[in-house]
Parts: sequence; structure tokens; C-alpha cells
Amino acid sequence: MGRMIAIANQKGGVGKTTTSVNISACLAYLGKKVLLVDMDPQGNATSGVGINKGDVDESIYDILVEDIPAKSVIRGTSVENLYAIPATISLAGAEIELVSMVSREIRLKKALEDVQHRFDYIIIDCPPSLGMLTINALTASDACIIPVQCEYYALEGLSQLLSTVRLVQKHLNHHLLIDGVLLTMLDARTNLGIQVIAEVKKYFQDKVYRTIIPRNVRLSEAPSHGLPVILYDPKSKGAEVYLELAKEVIVNG
Ligand code: ADP
Ligand code: MG
Repeated sequence: MGRMIAIANQKGGVGKTTTSVNISACLAYLGKKVLLVDMDPQGNATSGVGINKGDVDESIYDILVEDIPAKSVIRGTSVENLYAIPATISLAGAEIELVSMVSREIRLKKALEDVQHRFDYIIIDCPPSLGMLTINALTASDACIIPVQCEYYALEGLSQLLSTVRLVQKHLNHHLLIDGVLLTMLDARTNLGIQVIAEVKKYFQDKVYRTIIPRNVRLSEAPSHGLPVILYDPKSKGAEVYLELAKEVIVNG
């Protein structure tokens, strides 16, 4: 059964989508069969793997709300071995529509049960909120990765996220683990980053990945080409660190 991992943090701009796309592509590069599930109405993970949002007719919205089987929505991407369930702006409505639906928290889990055996990893890109979409992602997952930006107030909001994780563990998904906290967008030229690393490590201890993601312009350029960095510029620092991270995730299980 594929290991399902949600990339979650209700803060925007911390590197969730960049991590989802690039970890998925690096796992695929390492020979794993991977499904990337876009759970953000912005659909940036969708376009980041080369799917034109304008061409998408059925998406994660139809799976969650219209009970369309997941297998009919899965498509190929710009990366060999990497498949995706796309999202479009229609998903914005699902956050509200789900609230009044039966089994609202377990709809993603149920929908993916049919396809989980076909993949080694299923990576879920969460939206920047702790609403029904993120709850569905955490309920479906074996583990989560929490990207934390190496910036002022890095730890702000994390207690809210951790209490949501604990609530899901208690009531919806006993198996959910925090695979790790990922430090992102480190600017090696400032002392601030070093302070944030120390602070986050003090709080999360051995839950922090050894790999730290630096700021790398290739990582921010790649999405506009519909390519993960490992294809856009395989020799870049961004490609190197996400490959390292993918290996850490494989070792963890
Ligand atoms: P989120 O999904 O948490 O909102 P994104 O992954 O979309 O965050 O990242 C926010 C912005 O920062 C994007 O424009 C992205 O290209 C850029 N970005 C993310 N990680 C890096 C990095 N390591 N180096 C440079 N730019 C980055
Ligand atoms: Mg995002």
C-alpha cells in the first residue's frame, strides 16, 4: 500500500507546494511510483507538474463532492512515474459544501482507498487553512510533513496546527504521524536563519529533517515551466536538496 503523506501548514508561502511538487518528482526520479494530490484551490501543484489548469475537466473537487472515482481523474505529468489528481478553483467551494456532507472528514481517505495500492507514495498538497480540506488530507494520511519557513515568527501558528494534528489523531486517524518538520527558504547570509533553526530544533528535536531547504532561485523559476526542479535544472542546489529530502523520507518508512 502506498504511503500517504500530507504536506501541511495553515500559513501561506512557507513552501508547501514547492515541497509537494519536488518531493514527489524526486521520489519518482528514485524509481518510486508516485501520486501527487492537489488539495489547494489555487492549483499550483497541478500546474507545477505541467498540467494546464484550463484543460482540466474533472478534478479533486469531483472526487470529494460528486463521488467520481479517483482512478478516472488521475493523469500523467511532465515527470515519468509521477501521476497527479489536479485541482482547480472549483475546489474553493468544496470547503463549504463538505461541511454538510455525510462522512465529511473521511471522503478523501475513502476515495483514495481504490488507488492506493497502485503507488509507492501519495503526496497531498494542502491549502493554507485548517478547514475541511486539510482535515481530509490529515485523516487520509499515514504521516505529515510540516514545512516551516526560516523567518521571523517561524513558530507562530504551529501550536494551532499541532492541536489539529492531535485532534485528528484522537478522533479520525490513530495512525497519523508527524514524519518531520522541514526548514525551508533558509537565507544562509543572515544570522536570523541560524536562530530559527536552533529554535525549531529545540522545540521539535529529532522530528526536524536533517535536510534544510535553502533559498534557491531555480526552485521559484521551475513552476512557470511546468517542471519540478529535478528536470528544470538537475544540477541546481534546489534539485540536490529535494533529492536528499526524498531519501530521508524513504528511510523513515
Ligand atoms: P505554500 O504552498 O506554502 O503557499 P509555496 O511553495 O507556493 O508555498 O512557496 C511560496 C513562494 O516561494 C513561491 O513563489 C515559491 O516559488 C517560492 N519558494 C518556495 N520555496 C523556495 C525556495 N526554497 N527558494 C526560493 N523560492 C522558494
Ligand atoms: Mg501552496
